[in-house]
Amino acid sequence: EEQVRELRRTLGVKVSGALPPKPVSSFGHFGFDEQLLKSVRKAEYTQPTPIQAQAVPAALSGRDIIGIAKTGSGKTAAFIWPLLTHLMDQRELRPGDGPIGLILAPTRELSLQIYNEAKKFGKVYNINVVCCYGGGSKWEQSKALEQGCEIVVATPGRMIDMVKMKATNLRRVTFLVLDEADRMFHMGFEPQVRSICNHVRPDRQTLLFSATFKKRIERLARDILTDPVRIVQGDLN
Ligand code: ADP
Ligand code: MG
Repeated sequence: EEQVRELRRTLGVKVSGALPPKPVSSFGHFGFDEQLLKSVRKAEYTQPTPIQAQAVPAALSGRDIIGIAKTGSGKTAAFIWPLLTHLMDQRELRPGDGPIGLILAPTRELSLQIYNEAKKFGKVYNINVVCCYGGGSKWEQSKALEQGCEIVVATPGRMIDMVKMKATNLRRVTFLVLDEADRMFHMGFEPQVRSICNHVRPDRQTLLFSATFKKRIERLARDILTDPVRIVQGDLN
């Protein structure tokens, strides 16, 4: 226990919630399968960032997470790696199947960044990732969804459009990520985010990431997360 506290101090992360899993300080100790470990090695990262060190083991153990850390702290991989691990256990894709992992992000740029990370680390698994954002062609995005996929990265409004058009459905979603939740709220996406959460099965695993943790995010967390592990890196602002 003292060792765990010491490691958290070194990482600069504060953790709360019932029985938080221990942080892990090297990639080899995450328990990733060989394939994933290989693609992480290919990225030439020397060690997990502090948020990864604490959030990855918590996510791998199946827990819901609130992750608060500033931009540039490596949050994308902190949810992509556990999502890929989650997928490995259960996929069997038929044409037209909806996603198992759904990631919501505030903007086109962020969605595309996350999409590229998911493709980079998911390449070894040969999975289908689809990206849907406002401003892009609805026709092209719906065609891509209709082929079937394991992961969708989307902006909230466009995701709802795609479901309404019946290009896909949320029935298979068991791993839901809200990235940059504070920015999604700033952009007025709170109703869409809540609506999507309400349409995903309640026994899903949910990860919420944000650069700040204000009242509205706290309320969202209370409404959509189950017994979360809260991980804060640096100072809360
Ligand atoms: P955030 O979402 O917290 O703003 P990102 O996930 O966009 O941060 O990551 C920021 C940068 O750090 C990216 O270029 C990413 O490739 C890189 N990165 C992620 N994890 C590591 C790591 N463990 N070691 C070194 N660089 C990393
Ligand atoms: Mg990010």
